[in-house]
Amino acid sequence: MRQRIAVVGGGPAGLTFARVMHRHGHPVTVLERDPAPDARPPGGALDLHEGMGQRALEKAGLLAEFEALSRPEGQAMRILDTDGTVLRDWKPDPGERSNPEIDRGQLRDLLLGPLDVQWGRGVTEVVPGSPALVRFSDGRQETFDLVVGADGAWSRVRRALSPVTPHYTGVTAVETSVDDVDSRRPDLARLIGDGSMAVYGVNRGLVAQRNSGGHVKVYVQVRVPPEWHTEVDPADVGAVRSQVLGLFDGWSAPVLDLLRLGDAFTYRPLYVLPVSHTWDHVPGVTLLGDAAHLMPPLGVGANLAMLEGAELAESVAAADDLDEAVRAFEERMWARARGWAEMTAAGLERLVSPDPAQALALFDEVQ
Ligand SMILES: Cc1cc2nc3c(=O)[nH]c(=O)nc-3n(C[C@H](O)[C@H](O)[C@H](O)COP(=O)(O)OP(=O)(O)OC[C@H]3O[C@@H](n4cnc5c(N)ncnc54)[C@H](O)[C@@H]3O)c2cc1C
Repeated sequence: MRQRIAVVGGGPAGLTFARVMHRHGHPVTVLERDPAPDARPPGGALDLHEGMGQRALEKAGLLAEFEALSRPEGQAMRILDTDGTVLRDWKPDPGERSNPEIDRGQLRDLLLGPLDVQWGRGVTEVVPGSPALVRFSDGRQETFDLVVGADGAWSRVRRALSPVTPHYTGVTAVETSVDDVDSRRPDLARLIGDGSMAVYGVNRGLVAQRNSGGHVKVYVQVRVPPEWHTEVDPADVGAVRSQVLGLFDGWSAPVLDLLRLGDAFTYRPLYVLPVSHTWDHVPGVTLLGDAAHLMPPLGVGANLAMLEGAELAESVAAADDLDEAVRAFEERMWARARGWAEMTAAGLERLVSPDPAQALALFDEVQ
């Protein structure tokens, strides 16, 4: 196979695609906008499902390394009432490895391995054709036989295929974190346990998720208008903290303490693509992961992104006809992603709902 292939984006989708291609002896050009791997905080831990993220890592030859790094105990989940009463306390059985957690930074480094990523190469536009033309933010341009858009929610590559843009779900997330929880606040460490702890109220919820090294990610989700996060200056940490604390008036002290201890907050209004997002096949350009099917963050997006990356790589590496392989892959991706998009959209409605009992019922159904 002599085609020149580029993947735009070095997230879970792009790196898995490149790594599986590498395993099959076909180097691809990885174009990533970030100037370096650690240019941004990597975000919270991911649970990789057996038939999805873990399957992708198996295809990349990385399952054993994942098993050594991941935390099966991180699958534990505790749900509290707003007054602190424990409603559910689920722990995985010994040996249970269906959804172990891994820090995003660890996953990225695992996938990077021998890959030669071109950092600081923001793509501004892709013009389909034979070959397809890639334009960069520094004014340069290059051509490739296939450009794979794995550039996330606000994909630039998507514009070459589809006029659709993401729309607001009605829910905004705010992310903060607490370091060294075991030594600083052993009471909170015990409350969170080995995995995650969640509390759901009317149209809002809070999840505290243990990452490695005593680091805890705290996610707030609240049903608000899209401009809610512009009401305060995001650089004014005190003002943001007060705004967020105001959502949880009357909730138990440990929950409020998780927010009081946070010293940096990031607003993430949650956007999605339509559940049935597809496009007319265009030779030379395709999409993977969030760029193709952005959905609510309910533990699926990175898993799907990785599985798609691995499957596209296997198809392309084995193909006599590159375009036919991509076309067939797209059909499979759309069919599978549609089901997950419907499920996660319905899930978000129940997790951040006027009736908090819906969130508990969802947890019981999933467990
Ligand atoms: C709070 C939160 C928690 C989540 N938890 C989970 C979970 O537990 N499990 C799970 O499976 N999913 C989870 N998700 C979803 C998951 O993060 C995404 O679905 C996943 O990261 C998608 O991977 P991707 O590679 O498609 O896109 P991304 O991870 O967004 O990666 C895209 C990459 O492209 C780069 N890029 C963007 N634009 C350009 C450009 N123009 N040129 C070059 N490079 C560009 C970006 O810098 C980035 O590196 C969560 C999401 C959120 C917001």
